[in-house]
Amino acid sequence: MQNIPEIERLIKLISKLPGLGPKSAKRIVLKLINNREELIKPMAKTLAEVYKNIFRCKICGSLKSNLNGCNNCENNKNKFNKICVVENIADQWSIETSSVYQGYFHILGGTISSSNNQKKEDLLINSLVERVKKDNIEEVILATSATVEGQTTAFYIQDSLKNTNVKISKLAQGVPVGGETKIFKKRDKKTSNFNIKD
Ligand SMILES: [Zn+2]
Repeated sequence: MQNIPEIERLIKLISKLPGLGPKSAKRIVLKLINNREELIKPMAKTLAEVYKNIFRCKICGSLKSNLNGCNNCENNKNKFNKICVVENIADQWSIETSSVYQGYFHILGGTISSSNNQKKEDLLINSLVERVKKDNIEEVILATSATVEGQTTAFYIQDSLKNTNVKISKLAQGVPVGGETKIFKKRDKKTSNFNIKD
């Protein structure tokens, strides 16, 4: 698009989004430019607001707005006695979409891995133990992935919770590798027995 630096930068940024390559990024940019008032203006404003106000909750790892409390762990309308532990927010969304589970979520933000620098302290495991004690949680459901890292993490969490009397269960299959919404919606072979063990 005529080597305009602003446009080039925008195309580069948009092509970093999941599922988008340079071609679709160009189409999106063209659409934006043709809709300055309807798209660019509100989008710029919304992005700035999201950047300023949206963070991960330091207690449960979910997303929250600084303007309100955390919908996930400070939800006083519904009290639950279960927490489902997942690796990331996409996993939480998948499980919510599949409607097989009703309860709190706890988002670790990754797994314990020997190959990267993810530290145990970053995974909000201590805050999980605190939540279990504070909210009188009766059951923790581990939904980490079936990978070595996912299972190592599950084992570490189990060990961290051993001094509480909480019941620990696992999702029958765990969240499949790269598990995202589509996997649960499709209920293909891999996930056909996706359910929560009692
Ligand atoms: Zn929270």
